[in-house]
Amino acid sequence: MAFYNPKRASNWNYGGSNWKLSRSKIDLFMECPRCFYIDNKLGTKRPPIPSFLINTAVDHQLKKEFDVHRSNNTAHPLQTEYGIDAKPAPHEKINTWRENFEGVQYFHEPTKLMISGAIDDLWIDSKGEYIVVDYKATAKEAPVTELSGEWHEGYKRQMEVYQWLLRQNGLKVSDTGYFVYCTGKLNQESFDKKIEFDVHLISYTGKDDWVEPVLEKIKACLESSTIPNSGKNCDYCAWYYTRSSYESAVKPTSTSPAQSLKPAPKVAKPKKPKTGSDLSKNSVLF
Ligand code: SF4
Repeated sequence: MAFYNPKRASNWNYGGSNWKLSRSKIDLFMECPRCFYIDNKLGTKRPPIPSFLINTAVDHQLKKEFDVHRSNNTAHPLQTEYGIDAKPAPHEKINTWRENFEGVQYFHEPTKLMISGAIDDLWIDSKGEYIVVDYKATAKEAPVTELSGEWHEGYKRQMEVYQWLLRQNGLKVSDTGYFVYCTGKLNQESFDKKIEFDVHLISYTGKDDWVEPVLEKIKACLESSTIPNSGKNCDYCAWYYTRSSYESAVKPTSTSPAQSLKPAPKVAKPKKPKTGSDLSKNSVLF
C-alpha cells in the first residue's frame, strides 16, 4: 500500500473537477470497459507498474536533440537520412502539448468530455502540414523496424488520437505520422558504461474516424449504472474469480468443501486495508 492508493479522491473521478479523458484512458476502455469503469467512475485503478526510467532517459535525449534543430530551423539528421521533407515544428504550444498533465486538449461538445493527450514531438513539412511523432524505446536482439506486434495496435491508436486532437485544435495534420524507434543493443561486445541504440524511423498512416464513435460509447459507459463486462485479453478477472472461489472453499466452516482438502492449505486472513470498507466495497464489483 506504500505506492498504491486503491481509493483516490473523488474529484479525480468522472464528474470531478480534475477528471479528463486521456489518450491512455481511451485505450483502457478499448482494452477492457470493465476496468475503465471501475477506474474512472468508481475511483479504483489497477495497481501501477513501475515506470521504465531508461525509456524516459531516451525520450529526454531525443527531445533535446530535436529541440536544437527546432530552434535552429534545421532538419534533424534522421529526417535527412530517411529523406523526409520536414523539420521539427516551432509551434508556440509545443511545450504545453508535450507536458504530461496538460497535453493537447479538446472539449468534445457532443459528449461534454474533455479529451487530452501529450505528444512527444511535432514536425512540419514544406507544405505546412503538421506531422505527429512518437518516441519509443526497447531492447532486443534485432532492431524494431516495423509495427507488427499485437501491442503495436495500441501505438497506432495512440498516434490516431493525437492526430485527431491536433485537428480539433485547428491544425492541418498529415495522415502520416512517425515513430522514432530506438532499440537498445543486447549484443555489444562490452558494456563500457553505455548501451548503444539502433534508431529507426517507422512511418504509419493513421485513420482517426473511429475516435468519435468510441467517445460516444465511453460517454454511455460512464453514464450507465451497470458495470460492463470484462475485455477478452486480460486474465486477471478470471484469476480473481478462481482465487475467490478457492478462498471460500478453504474456509473452515462445517459445510465447507475445505474439509475434503488434505492437507488444507493455510490461507492468511487478509488484513483490513487502511482504507477499510472502501476496498472491500469495490472488491465485490469484480
Ligand atoms: S479483465 Fe478484469 S482485471 Fe482485467 S482489465 Fe478487465 S476488469 Fe481489469
